[in-house]
Amino acid sequence: MAFELPPLPYDYAALEPHIDEQTMRLHHDKHHQTYVTNLNAAVQGTEFEGMDPQELMGNLGRVPEEKRTAVRNNGGGHVNHTMFWEIMGPNGGGQPTGALAEAITQAFGSVDAMKEAVNKAATGRFGSGWAWVVLGADGTLQVTSTANQDNPYMTGVAEVSGHPILGVDVWEHSYYLKYQNRRPDYLAAWWNAVNWDAVSRRYEQARAQ
Ligand code: MN
Repeated sequence: MAFELPPLPYDYAALEPHIDEQTMRLHHDKHHQTYVTNLNAAVQGTEFEGMDPQELMGNLGRVPEEKRTAVRNNGGGHVNHTMFWEIMGPNGGGQPTGALAEAITQAFGSVDAMKEAVNKAATGRFGSGWAWVVLGADGTLQVTSTANQDNPYMTGVAEVSGHPILGVDVWEHSYYLKYQNRRPDYLAAWWNAVNWDAVSRRYEQARAQ
């Protein structure tokens, strides 16, 4: 069973004006599709073909060396973008609620302080990568960032490894058409597209694992 591009769970224009329709079309249909295509090519005929993508991320050391970079980059791209579409949505933004809100307040002092920490990690990421909120092994929420398509599921690549409950893509392909070089403006707008209910579900899943 090959890996597949999940359909975008809302309209391409649903995140306007924060994230523009053209960016969403290219980002989902072209960039994410390319990661899926290249991942399938890399694992074809191997035991990794049918593996759960997140599990694959935690087992890169088992992938033969000649295929490992392709699986790391394209598998990471597939897992990261699948999460990215999930945690955004129409009528996004606002405030997290319930257990997630409590955990954020406990870890960072406030939701705004958490956003500041994510924005700082995201603007401080030189070149391409991601900034994350991760449920760490100690059970607390922490902010980290990774280069390229690495993610906190991978062993030893992030300062904090664990289950990401939220991640923001800071590759230029995620914002350049609308925001050009202004990554901080994109980040400020991006929070208005976050689906906090989806982030809460990821938090509950991470706690259950
Ligand atoms: Mn991307």
